[in-house]
Amino acid sequence: MQKGMNHEKADCGRLGDALQAIIPALEEFSRYAEPDQTATHQKEWKSAVEKPLPQKGEGLDTVLSELSETVIPNGLRIGMPGFSGWVTTSPTTSAVVANLAGSVAGSQRWMVQPFNTIERIALEWLAELLGIPSEWQGTFSSGGSVANIIGLAAARQHAFEKIGLDPAREGVQNVENWRIYSSSEVHHVSIRAAAVLGLGRNSVVQIPPDDAFRLDIKALKSILVRHKKKGIRPLAIIATTGTVNTGAIDPLLPIADLADEFGAWLHVDGAYGGFGILDERIAYLFEGLDRARSFAVDPHKWLAAPVGIGATFVRDKALLGRALTLEPAEYLEGTSLAGEVTSAFDQLGEVFHDYNLEQSAPSRGVSVWAILKEIGAEGVRDRVVRHNDFARRVQHMAEEDERLEVLSPATLSICCFRYLAEGKDDGALNELNLEIARRLRAEGRLVPSTTEINGKITIRPCYINPRGTRAEVDALVRRVRELGDKIVSNQ
Ligand SMILES: *Cc1c(COP(=O)(O)O)cnc(C)c1O
Repeated sequence: MQKGMNHEKADCGRLGDALQAIIPALEEFSRYAEPDQTATHQKEWKSAVEKPLPQKGEGLDTVLSELSETVIPNGLRIGMPGFSGWVTTSPTTSAVVANLAGSVAGSQRWMVQPFNTIERIALEWLAELLGIPSEWQGTFSSGGSVANIIGLAAARQHAFEKIGLDPAREGVQNVENWRIYSSSEVHHVSIRAAAVLGLGRNSVVQIPPDDAFRLDIKALKSILVRHKKKGIRPLAIIATTGTVNTGAIDPLLPIADLADEFGAWLHVDGAYGGFGILDERIAYLFEGLDRARSFAVDPHKWLAAPVGIGATFVRDKALLGRALTLEPAEYLEGTSLAGEVTSAFDQLGEVFHDYNLEQSAPSRGVSVWAILKEIGAEGVRDRVVRHNDFARRVQHMAEEDERLEVLSPATLSICCFRYLAEGKDDGALNELNLEIARRLRAEGRLVPSTTEINGKITIRPCYINPRGTRAEVDALVRRVRELGDKIVSNQ
């Protein structure tokens, strides 16, 4: 429909023209040719965007030129090859285009139409890729935060139903009698999930990890025994397959045994590291995954889907439905009498809103489908193995250098290391390593993050970015060493 056919101010056509207008800026951005100067240029771009609400619209062309000139060039450079700071990255091309296609032609995930069917297919492919039994109910959501809430909502339903209560209908009662167990390396979104689900943040018992940063089985067992004696019930145990701090994978088999013994739901948070099962060298660490009852994974991490895509798989579909079903509404009408589908309105297609927190939702599956169609299981496997190799390379280089110390060896694609200087205690080394990290960020080429391990500040590269190469891996370790030497010699 062309502008001017009615009184609508928004342009509903010219999609090709509009895209063409911003493509040069997008392509230039994606070259990551210059170091990141977004922060140092913030005066200029902020003054360009901090404007009052326009009373009279400025038109599509103004929007396009501001996007091209101000917004895109100063965008977020986490897709830059030397960026290894976060567990999310910038999406690859097929996913960007599929995402756009979804927003034009699949603007909701329901009804009898390909974006709806592809939602299911993408979940099936993802389950197969990650070793999740095919009968489990999958559902996409906005990311790990919600994906973990969905898994734990099912856990809550299971726990309360066992004592004859329906928490979805009646609310939670006597919450003080229930606990969720995890290592203290659990992602904080799971603690918020406990808050959102009415269990309370305090219901999460965070057990200090073992010396490989995993859930400490002995400590878990002893606290379960102690709590049982006091009448405290285990609602769930959360195992993380790939913590964000060190990439540690909690020991699934002994955790599954304890979950069975104490009647707890086993939820696995594989938001980051779930894809690690594809690396043959460490696949054995995922044994026991099929004994979990729920599993969360983020396609917007290692799969490089656009941010806003998480997934949960729950073994018991009916239970998940009881936890999250949407009360039926009356207003959906069909066209046919005999049950024959002649219009999309005759059916919602594959229904996901009964297994999720969202009613209206974008078609997310199409991005996952596009990525898997483009590179296949093999392409994902190659990426995971390559990135795990990168972390092993960091470990090797740091071990070889007397000025560097490995604080957590590589299991997945993270290796934490720090710069060492003679005669400095941990406090001084913490300052020194923070200063190295600050300088790396200011240089804007090789950007890892930092974290703290046993009170020690460490440089933490996490490799999930498809654009990264071995060159940036080696360069980062060398640069940390150089910057450390410079700072120590007061340069
Ligand atoms: C990233 C991550 C989360 C949080 O996911 P978001 O997508 O950022 O909401 C939770 N758990 C783990 C293990 C993660 O890596």
